[in-house]
Amino acid sequence: MELEFLERSPERVRFVLSGVSAGFANSLRRAMIAEVPKLAIDEVEIHENSSLLYDEQLALRLALIPLKVSPSDLRNFVPAEECECGGEGCEKCEAKLRLEAVSPETEGSITVYSRDLESLDSRVRVAYENIPIVKLFSKAREVGTFRDIARQRISLVAKARLGTGKKHAKWQPVTACGFKNMPKIEISDACNGCGLCVDACPRNILSVERGVAVVSAAVNECSLCRLCEDACEEQRRFVSPPLKTLSCFSLRATALSPLMKSLRLLQE
Ligand code: SF4
Ligand code: SF4
Ligand SMILES: [Zn+2]
Repeated sequence: MELEFLERSPERVRFVLSGVSAGFANSLRRAMIAEVPKLAIDEVEIHENSSLLYDEQLALRLALIPLKVSPSDLRNFVPAEECECGGEGCEKCEAKLRLEAVSPETEGSITVYSRDLESLDSRVRVAYENIPIVKLFSKAREVGTFRDIARQRISLVAKARLGTGKKHAKWQPVTACGFKNMPKIEISDACNGCGLCVDACPRNILSVERGVAVVSAAVNECSLCRLCEDACEEQRRFVSPPLKTLSCFSLRATALSPLMKSLRLLQE
């Protein structure tokens, strides 16, 4: 088995896995989605919520906000059901975040973002700061001669716990994870350089050089749509059936570090 990284950014990883069956590649995909543990908000103590969202909707939105923890700190967390505190909540199984927000003093509104979630645990912070949670409105009201501004307010403490995607999607460390078989493109000697396949390719993989079609971009970008074959009048097939042993993975992650560790282990 060989693993070659094509792209490694803080949020996106792409790699080519070779020498394994499609079944193995698929089990790897499933493990990345459902078995790698991650921290997510699991319980919310709502002290006040006069926003337009029901408490349950608010809690669900909070649960889906990705949280960031360093790999060494994540190792020290245990699932609440396995913790020696018996699930009561302690620093080994729980991290708390607080949200206090109120609409403006004058008529109008504000949007509460993920950055407004204040972590009460130095090990944990939100991974993305610009995720909108809820809008809070202020409206003028009059009772007799009395006039004031009705303001919406949220006050809560959220508890983040360790879990896996097997239990709930909020614990999935990847937002998208998939693989495809690696395409192989071969241009035959019958090519007359007409360029019809180049115009047909939606991924700009092909170009004409010195009178013949050539593969001019990374072949893993090919979507196997075979539009190039439909366009060509000289060659019936030039995208080979996918090779079963070569898989091109592409994943976007919200908690990349534990995944990268597993991938590096596989690579070794
Ligand atoms: S199969 Fe589709 S994406 Fe791949 S080279 Fe042909 S036209 Fe382009
Ligand atoms: S459409 Fe066929 S003949 Fe024309 S450039 Fe492409 S491969 Fe060559
Ligand atoms: Zn505990």
